[in-house]
Amino acid sequence: MKQALYIQNSLSGKKEEFKPIHKGFVGMYACGPTVYNYVHLGNCRTFVSFDLVYRYLLHLGYKVRYVRNITDVGHLENDADEGEDKIAKKAKLEQLEPMEIVQKYTLDFHDVLRKFNTLPPSIEPTATGHIIEQIEMIRKIIDNGYAYEINGSVYFDVNKYNESFPYGELSGRKVEELIAGTRDLDGQEEKRSPLDFALWKNASPEHIMKWASPWGIGFPGWHLECSAMSTKYLGEQFDIHGGGMDLKFPHHECEIAQGCSANGKSPVNYWMHGNMLTLNGRKMSKSAGNVVLPNELFSGENLELDKAYHPMVVRFFMMQAHYSSTLDFTSEALNAAEKGFDRLMEAFKTLQSLPAALTSTENTETLIAGFYEAMNDDFNSPVLVARLFEAVKYINSINDKKAGISEKDKESLIGAMKAFIFDVMGLQFKEDQDNSKLNGVMDLVIDLRQDARANKDFATSDKIRDYLSQIGITIKDSKDGASWS
Ligand code: AMP
Ligand code: ZN
Repeated sequence: MKQALYIQNSLSGKKEEFKPIHKGFVGMYACGPTVYNYVHLGNCRTFVSFDLVYRYLLHLGYKVRYVRNITDVGHLENDADEGEDKIAKKAKLEQLEPMEIVQKYTLDFHDVLRKFNTLPPSIEPTATGHIIEQIEMIRKIIDNGYAYEINGSVYFDVNKYNESFPYGELSGRKVEELIAGTRDLDGQEEKRSPLDFALWKNASPEHIMKWASPWGIGFPGWHLECSAMSTKYLGEQFDIHGGGMDLKFPHHECEIAQGCSANGKSPVNYWMHGNMLTLNGRKMSKSAGNVVLPNELFSGENLELDKAYHPMVVRFFMMQAHYSSTLDFTSEALNAAEKGFDRLMEAFKTLQSLPAALTSTENTETLIAGFYEAMNDDFNSPVLVARLFEAVKYINSINDKKAGISEKDKESLIGAMKAFIFDVMGLQFKEDQDNSKLNGVMDLVIDLRQDARANKDFATSDKIRDYLSQIGITIKDSKDGASWS
């Protein structure tokens, strides 16, 4: 069943067979969030999409090094080279240290992604933790003649670069057209061209987050961090780079320029871009003021919603669209996803208890091959879902005694559905996820009870045991510790 995997490469605009650069591992990088706000459902869609890619590569047996950064400095307002740092601005507003802002929203990001059952990346580097690497990369770019220093800032020289490399190849833009579309903006006159972008910015005295560099006190440009961190952990050339469509230009275009100018080669083999989650047809974004927060969705506390939705239903809703298509968020679509999710999970449970027949009335091998075909075609999760529903139909007709399945086929169908529903799509039974919370709480309660016993505080340890017993939870003590059921 080893078929080739094809990926739609945003750089070539074509579906290309996936061939990893190195024998040992697949290098994958996804641009992470700028942690100055609660992560919204739109952001989550992009991270869930790359979680699907990561999971499928793992399922195929690849060893994957998945790097997803945290942007904690350098991302200025309006994604431009001027204006305040988003994190510093929020820190002033909330009267907190910038790193308190970073911590608060990083914790929220992790908490929400855990609810969506995304796998943690192999490395989660921060921009502030890689200032030295960023300075080194700037030095290289200057030495190679593609950047210049002025007044303590360093800018990338787009025109110079464009003489040797095609600037705009990812986003399909041309330097001449870009120039025609620009106006001289205040404060940008130190740049040789309005297209040039900052690699390092000189910091004014009141600027909070700043570091010493060969060019004076300043801070790194937003585009540079991803180039520096991906090079450090994945090498000068790696396999897959992902992010939302809105990052194609200028962020990813600039990453290509930085990689080529520093190392003489294009950094990424397969560029993948996830499409936007929309609300009433408009991109969900903080600036448009139309964000839905995942926790509001899980609790039902949002004006757009008439009820709460389980994180697994929302994940399934996302899986029903291809990552490169827009996905519109509506209550109706979520309700439909809920029905579909329940039907799929129910059928999977039913399958395990079905009686086996001597022969199968359907070709399970073809059914299962269909799962792979879907995912091998640029991670086509909606087609995978449709194929899984073909299996659901088969299972339900066996259950209604209108069809049959042999023991051997039943085993392989269980194995394949399990792999694709749980490992690849990352779904869980609702109750398993809810229980995982209980498991965490019970670990804590048992720990506290052990502490009480160690301190000979038997009144507290008995109180915990008796209360749990009243609500139907039994604690068993043994010489290896305590367990519960
Ligand atoms: P940010 O925190 O703005 O840097 O965004 C983090 C990630 O979320 C980026 O990959 C964006 O492309 C992505 N993103 C932002 N808004 C949306 C949206 N409405 N739908 C899908 N992805 C989004
Ligand atoms: Zn990035």
